[in-house]
Amino acid sequence: LTSREAKEEDTVVHVGDVRIGSGEFVVMAGPCSVESEEQLLESAYIVRKGGGRILRGGAFKPRTSPYSFQGMEEDGLKLLAKAREKTGLPVVTEIVNPEDLDLVEAYTDILQVGARNVQNFALLKKIGRSRKPVLLKRGMMTTIEELLMSAEYILSAGNDQVILCERGIRTFETATRNTLDISAVPVLKELTHLPVIIDPSHATGHWKYVIPLSRAALAVGADGVIVEMHPQPEKAFCDGAQSLTPEKFYELMEELKTMEYVL
Ligand code: PEP
Ligand code: MN
Repeated sequence: LTSREAKEEDTVVHVGDVRIGSGEFVVMAGPCSVESEEQLLESAYIVRKGGGRILRGGAFKPRTSPYSFQGMEEDGLKLLAKAREKTGLPVVTEIVNPEDLDLVEAYTDILQVGARNVQNFALLKKIGRSRKPVLLKRGMMTTIEELLMSAEYILSAGNDQVILCERGIRTFETATRNTLDISAVPVLKELTHLPVIIDPSHATGHWKYVIPLSRAALAVGADGVIVEMHPQPEKAFCDGAQSLTPEKFYELMEELKTMEYVL
């Protein structure tokens, strides 16, 4: 169902008035995790002011260490809904546990499946029965074929509103957190009709590389990017090193606008 043979024309994922996969380059931005009302609302206003179309923020955080901040859970979801109410921006947040589907669905506009859950088949089957759009991240060790098979789980359960996301894979290189597989974009575009976006924040682990790789995402034909931005990255509960400051976020948006004009 994910293949071009099954469906030739591009799938457009509808989220409010945002059309992902329609030719418009969509920027999703926000903090790694929801930390407080003040932090999230401030982030949301910055995203909207800069021209971002979707607010991101994790309420359930699948952290490498059990001792790291695990997220605000339902309180975080409520804050995301509040931020949407205040700014009109649709929100995307991660679902970690299949049992939380009703809860997460009640608050979010897009269900995010994280890199670590790309082959959590129970979760994929469950969200396949949902009518909410899904942002499916490639795992750090999944091949493109495996990513497409994971998407197939969701489509075959009845949900065709799936956005694929390349967020870096594990290689021998240690200069960046992961290695952005930019070639995944044209390869996926050939194999599937689903929209493809890039996450340069988790791919590199460093804010400095987020702007150049966002430019690369636009140039290579991705349908958008999802980037981490924090009002005060040095105070972030997680992923501060890869989070853009508001100023850098505005700079990113200006650069993308200029590039879109040229392309
Ligand atoms: C995230 O987007 O906050 C996240 C945890 O990303 P990933 O699943 O790609 O590591
Ligand atoms: Mn993060």
